[in-house]
Amino acid sequence: MPVAELRAPSTIRAGLRCRCPRCGEGKLFRSFLKIAERCDRCGLDYSFADPADGPAFFVMSGVGILVTAVWAWAAFEFRPPIWVQFVTVFPAMIGGCLACLQPMKAWLVAEQYVHKAGEGHWASTGSHGEGGFTYDRRGVSDRRAD
Ligand SMILES: [Zn+2]
Repeated sequence: MPVAELRAPSTIRAGLRCRCPRCGEGKLFRSFLKIAERCDRCGLDYSFADPADGPAFFVMSGVGILVTAVWAWAAFEFRPPIWVQFVTVFPAMIGGCLACLQPMKAWLVAEQYVHKAGEGHWASTGSHGEGGFTYDRRGVSDRRAD
């Protein structure tokens, strides 16, 4: 499929479906959290994709806050025995994190693609005493005050 014919999906849609951010059709993952080398539909090279710890942080924070809030409300409202809390809260935390991790990673990769985000690179302004700083003389008189 020629790249010009592709219609890019929204980043949310690409993330939720775990699909290529350019064509929205190709698979993004080759295993649970391993990103494929390239899109199997449009050939987009996924080497730019590196969300690092972002997905884990956002999923852990979001699911943790949500499950803890529901747990606290239910604990005060219904006063369940501790064993009920163990068998409901831990699976909710683990299951919630596992369910959200892949779409979150796919969404962050799609955002990286759309915003052309990458690792920062230092651009030198020159060595000490060379170039870099220029003085704008517009509006400044060349006459010396003697
Ligand atoms: Zn693609």
